[in-house]
Amino acid sequence: MRERTLTILKPDTVARRNVGAIISRLEQEGFEIIGAKRLQLTEEQAKAFYAVHRERPFYRSLVEFMTSGPVWVMALERDNAVEHLRRVMGATDSAKAEKGTIRAQFGTNIERNAIHGSDSPENARQEVAFFFSAAELV
Ligand code: UDP
Ligand code: MG
Repeated sequence: MRERTLTILKPDTVARRNVGAIISRLEQEGFEIIGAKRLQLTEEQAKAFYAVHRERPFYRSLVEFMTSGPVWVMALERDNAVEHLRRVMGATDSAKAEKGTIRAQFGTNIERNAIHGSDSPENARQEVAFFFSAAELV
């Protein structure tokens, strides 16, 4: 079933000039980019976006990393988009991510892992709405 998901090309990806390569990979994987914007997350936005992790030891560092430079946020559409994006991203820790995954190829470690992807259809809907109005998705 055709579905939407949210991805963020994280500050490490922008800083290392890997945006184009990752977008190219996502298009090869059959994702259609139905909305995209470059922005620098405020501390408030990053905290809210990752609120589910607020009690975790890595939260403060994660917020600092995610606000450290510009990102690209993109709404993607494809059959089974949420699960497929998670598969092509690979494991959270880039050092352990399966060969051929985006995080293995473009990430560095468990924090600087190149890309975000929603983890469920329900969270995908919330995360797409966090960044995009309906009129911005075409
Ligand atoms: N993260 C981290 N340390 C950890 C786990 C996660 O710095 O031990 C960061 C990492 O950037 C990750 C984000 O926090 O992508 C959100 O964590 P989550 O467990 O949701 O991983 P994901 O869904 O991104 O694979
Ligand atoms: Mg997650």
